[in-house]
Amino acid sequence: MFDLNEKLRGLAAYQPVEGAGCIRLDANESFLPLPKEIRAAFRQVLGDLEYSRYPDPAARELCGAFARYYGVDPQSVVAGNGSDELISVIFQGFLMKGEAFATVDPDFSMYAQAGALAEARHVSIGKKDYRIDPEEVIGACRREEVKLLIFSNPCNPTSLVLDRAAVRHIVRSVEALVVLDEAYMDFSDQSLLGEVSEYGNLIILRTCSKAIGMAAARLGFAVAGPRLAEALRAAKSPYNVNGMSQALGAAALSRGGLLRQALAQVLASRDQLLAGLRAVDQALPGRFRVLPSGANFAALVLPQARRVQETLLERGVAVRFTGGLLRVTCGRPEENRRFLQEFQKILEELT
Ligand SMILES: *Cc1c(COP(=O)(O)O)cnc(C)c1O
Repeated sequence: MFDLNEKLRGLAAYQPVEGAGCIRLDANESFLPLPKEIRAAFRQVLGDLEYSRYPDPAARELCGAFARYYGVDPQSVVAGNGSDELISVIFQGFLMKGEAFATVDPDFSMYAQAGALAEARHVSIGKKDYRIDPEEVIGACRREEVKLLIFSNPCNPTSLVLDRAAVRHIVRSVEALVVLDEAYMDFSDQSLLGEVSEYGNLIILRTCSKAIGMAAARLGFAVAGPRLAEALRAAKSPYNVNGMSQALGAAALSRGGLLRQALAQVLASRDQLLAGLRAVDQALPGRFRVLPSGANFAALVLPQARRVQETLLERGVAVRFTGGLLRVTCGRPEENRRFLQEFQKILEELT
């Protein structure tokens, strides 16, 4: 009998919330369809694609469009098949077996999985009331000889933003490679993208899956100084981003004005969701707490969060229970209202 090795035996496939026919507020996707102009551009580029040829391994057009949209040097950008792939390439490449990587928990679950597959040692640093304590992170990285520190900012699942000065302080104070996952930074304003080349130990991750509204295309980006970007290009598989996604990503990212309009609509939806939660809190004081959000979702602290998530799902609203929090993605106005109604009803029933 063939036996699975130790690192595979404990692993299980990622389980998205089963929510067929539900209002989907569980995966932090954009609720907006892409603008008509961008969809028309997609039809054009897909019609013209040279399907018999391998795509550009450096994805130059795509990385160029990303670089122009975000105002960074195109040489510093490496594209991936979602940032999930880049996380896995980074862990495989930058860690030797047995070396330590650190996460600051709760955080994105993919980090621990990538570390386990890289046969690395996991150092889990705690948070204080869901907040990152920079001194604690720096201390743990030094004590444990951490080679790779990874965290998301804004954080999934807490939605909290660590200010730029604190992130800089961490990057400058540790020996480790710092992988700063800015998947949600379009919704906030504390990015370190503009100064990434000043650090020899920083890789920033971005994605088209959240604010850009293209989760289906699987497009992620790593941004780093020349030495790290070059190492990443060498470690990834050459044709990791397929030709269709390269073309679609370039077409979307070169239409920044449209993307910014969509972003404004998502921010308005987040504010509507947060205002609605404040109203529920006024009606039922002391039953839950909402963390201040710098992302496209709300993170709720409440007892029986899992029970609430299950009951919401039974009533046709999918949200996520993760990291001990109820995580609710902002949706269309009527979706937010429906969630708020059901949520308030469930809290009333639970007393
Ligand atoms: C959604 C998300 C990503 C994006 O992953 P993709 O593979 O690019 O879709 C990365 N990091 C965090 C923290 C996320 O929540």
